[in-house]
Amino acid sequence: MAGVEEIVVIGGGLAGSEAAWQVARAGLRVVLYEMRSGRSTPAHKTDWLGELVCSNSLKSNLPTSASGLLKEELRRAGSLLIQVADRSAVPGGTALSVDREQFARGVSEAIAAHPLIEVRREEVVAVPRHSLVIVATGPLTSDALSADIARLTGSDHLYFYDAISPIVDAESINPNKVFRASRYGKGSAPGSEGDYLNCPLTREGYDRFVEAVLAAEEVERHSFEPARFFEACLPIEELARRGRDSLRFGPMKPVGLTDPRSGRRPYAVVQLRQEDARASSYNLVGFQNHLKFGEQKRILRMIPGLENAEFLRYGQIHRNTYINAPALLLPTLRLRAHENIFVAGQLCGTEGYVEAVATGLMAGRHAARLARREELVPPPRETALGSLVHYITSASARNYQPANIAFDLLPPLPAQEQPQRQSDKQARRARQRQRALAAVEEWLRQYFSSLVTVD
Ligand SMILES: Cc1cc2nc3c(=O)[nH]c(=O)nc-3n(C[C@H](O)[C@H](O)[C@H](O)COP(=O)(O)OP(=O)(O)OC[C@H]3O[C@@H](n4cnc5c(N)ncnc54)[C@H](O)[C@@H]3O)c2cc1C
Repeated sequence: MAGVEEIVVIGGGLAGSEAAWQVARAGLRVVLYEMRSGRSTPAHKTDWLGELVCSNSLKSNLPTSASGLLKEELRRAGSLLIQVADRSAVPGGTALSVDREQFARGVSEAIAAHPLIEVRREEVVAVPRHSLVIVATGPLTSDALSADIARLTGSDHLYFYDAISPIVDAESINPNKVFRASRYGKGSAPGSEGDYLNCPLTREGYDRFVEAVLAAEEVERHSFEPARFFEACLPIEELARRGRDSLRFGPMKPVGLTDPRSGRRPYAVVQLRQEDARASSYNLVGFQNHLKFGEQKRILRMIPGLENAEFLRYGQIHRNTYINAPALLLPTLRLRAHENIFVAGQLCGTEGYVEAVATGLMAGRHAARLARREELVPPPRETALGSLVHYITSASARNYQPANIAFDLLPPLPAQEQPQRQSDKQARRARQRQRALAAVEEWLRQYFSSLVTVD
């Protein structure tokens, strides 16, 4: 592998853009292939690199949340995408929500301006077997490449189904029927009323809504597509089928919200989250569904405040492509059977935007070291980066399902460092975070101190 000067990255999404950036920061040339413009996916709408295909939220920024910790580690490691996300932030309570256009534009401009990165707008139909490659083509990898990855890995790779939530034009929301508030008042700027618009439902309104959802027509699934959803992203009709109150205990839960007009907690609530900096559109939080578009329009307009709603996007269902990481990947994100090929992003068996960025960063870093014949060392287990990669490469390979970062993936604290009260979750997490950040700094210092930081 001596003398490798150029690394191929396939896929200019979240993981691929981050990976390309990290390789280039290490001083190596990158050819980044992105099929969009010529050919798109069922979810992407633009030609931008790093487009966010659904929610504009990169999840919690709270220091004691696992996603908050992962983002902080990425910041310290000089992640391009997290830096651009911080710059593109819009109000989102405790979450890092971004203006999606500003975000994708920022990523695309940074990549285009880097002298060591060449972007080629082409669909790759086969993984080059003899180059140093990072494959980051995501959950909607094109069919031809999916078939080649199946050949490459010697297995049928897996897939399941996710659903995305609708977006409504802000001007079409009736301001007299909704109220602004964050749940339990958390995360809003001081003096502000809250970051979400809330549509309150009465008991009768809720019952009518659930009945309508249950009776609504769904988009037909192909016979070869099993109805297999990711539990954390269930469509509303699937939840409604599980019981009359399931929605009220799920995305329509009213806890922590008081309607200022009645001074009371509504029976159920639909929360709307701002999508862009200009607040020109809102996302119906947790309202992913697989209903026909006409049905969605009719039923979602039953929600108070949305009687005349104009939908900029309807809920949809999509395939999710990923390899069986525990069986196929090393903790450095290289394929066990082809050590010149790295896999990153959703395709390597993680779930979520930030997780895709994280595996992109790690794959880029490792690939650059491999090109220079340097030792590859995954981030320590104590870190969120290390725990994520440890989980995806060592979980049970039977029925493997993609993973989000979570605190229970991190190793527990040694007994002497546990807070006095076992129940003190926040204190425990704060210590795990401290330990993780110290470990990530040490990993960066030991193996990547020659890299320049992004500014
Ligand atoms: C519809 C949908 C909604 C989602 N919603 C969320 C959400 O709300 N929140 C969340 O955290 N996660 C969500 N995810 C999951 C996941 O976080 C995102 O898909 C994320 O974009 C994954 O990053 P990635 O880099 O792996 O893939 P992507 O960002 O999809 O990037 C892959 C890139 O590869 C390109 N490509 C594909 N095939 C080829 C080829 N053969 N040749 C060249 N280029 C190719 C694609 O055009 C794309 O640009 C969603 C996924 C989908 C599909």
